[in-house]
Amino acid sequence: MFFKRTARREVFYKTDEEVEAIRKSCLMVCDTLAHIGSIIKPGVTGTQINAAAETYIQDLKAIPSFKNYNGFPAALCVSVNEQVVHGFPTDYAFRDGDIVSVDCGVYFNGFHGDAAYTFAIGEVHTDVMRLLKVTKDSLYKGIDNAIEGKRIGDISFSVEEYCKKYHFGVVRELTGHGIGRNLHEEPEVPNYGRRGSGMVLKSGLVIAIEPMITLGKRDIATLSDNWTIVTRDRKPAAHFEHTVVVRKQKADILSDHSKIESAIKNNPDLREI
Ligand code: MG
Ligand code: MG
Repeated sequence: MFFKRTARREVFYKTDEEVEAIRKSCLMVCDTLAHIGSIIKPGVTGTQINAAAETYIQDLKAIPSFKNYNGFPAALCVSVNEQVVHGFPTDYAFRDGDIVSVDCGVYFNGFHGDAAYTFAIGEVHTDVMRLLKVTKDSLYKGIDNAIEGKRIGDISFSVEEYCKKYHFGVVRELTGHGIGRNLHEEPEVPNYGRRGSGMVLKSGLVIAIEPMITLGKRDIATLSDNWTIVTRDRKPAAHFEHTVVVRKQKADILSDHSKIESAIKNNPDLREI
């Protein structure tokens, strides 16, 4: 889930102890997403994976961050094909060829974790597989810039520059965000921007970086449910997210997609990205 624009607020830098608490929540998120990766296949619905996630998070004695957040009704955002982010879990049964962005947040011991992964179900079109790969790689281009002394704009620029090389659309209206005791904190982390612009990064800043990239034009619309974001041209969109902490030489990635990717490897109905 991404940042909704609000008034400027304080930036919170985290102690090492707080960072470890956020890591714990992030790993719970990724365990949940790995569980989803083990059960998602053609015929399964968003409602079903959401129920599985709620049970999983409950068993961890944690709280789903998204449920009731600004009125969001579920533990997961489930966004299929042309849906960019913030899709509601519904009774639509996933089909061979669908891509499904699953975004999850967990609150545990006073801190939130946030991560997202887009699953490719069955025989996904080559162009869409390329979109997924480029979006995922762009996330790591951004993370490479989440180091002390650089600026928010360096992260934003690196994501945008990489995706534009492939002529994909970079969604501008939604951004990554600071995270900690609140699901969404300052600063916003856009996926487009100018190199060397924005806030200077300091060790201890924890941010969720989440490129939202489209196969066609970058323009989006909100469905009548007031949540689901879709591409205006209804072409597919991809979304990958990590929570990271800014450090001196290299960002420390607090979430762990490798758990999800192991589940994908072991699920014959999913394609590896
Ligand atoms: Mg998220
Ligand atoms: Mg987020």
